[in-house]
Amino acid sequence: LSRLRGRLSRSQGAIGASVLGLLGAGDLDEDSWEEIEDTLVMSDLGTGATATVVERLREELAAGKVRTADDARSALRKILVEQLHPELDRSVRALPHADGPAVVLVVGVNGVGKTTTTGKLARVLVADGRRVTLGAADTFRAAAADQLQTWGERVGAGIVRGKEGADPAAVAFDAVSRGIADGVDVVLIDTAGRLHTKTGLMDELGKVKRVVEKKVPVDEVLLVLDATVGQNGLTQAKVFAEVVSLTGVVLTKLDGTAKGGIVFRIQDELGVPVKLVGLGEGADDLAPFEPEAFVDALL
Ligand code: GDP
Repeated sequence: LSRLRGRLSRSQGAIGASVLGLLGAGDLDEDSWEEIEDTLVMSDLGTGATATVVERLREELAAGKVRTADDARSALRKILVEQLHPELDRSVRALPHADGPAVVLVVGVNGVGKTTTTGKLARVLVADGRRVTLGAADTFRAAAADQLQTWGERVGAGIVRGKEGADPAAVAFDAVSRGIADGVDVVLIDTAGRLHTKTGLMDELGKVKRVVEKKVPVDEVLLVLDATVGQNGLTQAKVFAEVVSLTGVVLTKLDGTAKGGIVFRIQDELGVPVKLVGLGEGADDLAPFEPEAFVDALL
């Protein structure tokens, strides 16, 4: 928690300071409510989640439940945590099956931190005693496979890569085959993120998934989103959600933005839980997403 707080320092207080200041001031006029709404929208909560939060706050106030600044803080905290649907399963299913390894596809557009996230996730799994094979199915950028190979060497995970321009699905298939042959626990596949056309992406990602599933089921399809790009990220997310069924989101670069509110929108608009957050470029900068700790950091 303290680490999350520290890393989210730019987000810290973004919502808390002004909203709590207003709430703690006693009777609220419509101007103050508008100010609260503006703050929430500016923190990237989006209009849907903002409307719900404001409505719930009004209810709590009307019910006489908010008398002190402390009451205001705990009411806001409770309401924000509620918005994050804590009942959603946020675990990353990476346990092997009877007939082979768990398979995790990592998807997202270039530059969001896909390869880095794949490397960090491998590190977490290896530290947890799992054996991991990496598949460098982003064959359109030679640098991506090199980068993943460096991660593999660093964390102790094998890698399967193809020639530049090779069919991503073939590389994914080879990675899973190798994983099965080596008896590893998890295969992590880094995919290409060219959002050139939706059909192109659909064909490519769909094929990767279908081909892998000839061998073993795909357990997770994690969409990596860059928290600093706000609304654009959400638009991208919707395209991905249309072409492949996502099991979770990894929100990267949360260390570099005051707009942590995007978490609310992802959940609200995609119905997919944020499972992991990226808090820096280093190997240890990947953390499970915990709604309570996250909201505490925002307040
Ligand atoms: P890809 O094209 O999606 O595979 O993106 P990369 O993994 O190559 O990452 C792009 C850049 O973002 C690199 O410079 C990473 O070090 C950086 N990056 C990735 N995750 C994070 C994060 O959580 N925080 C910060 N600050 N930088 C990150």
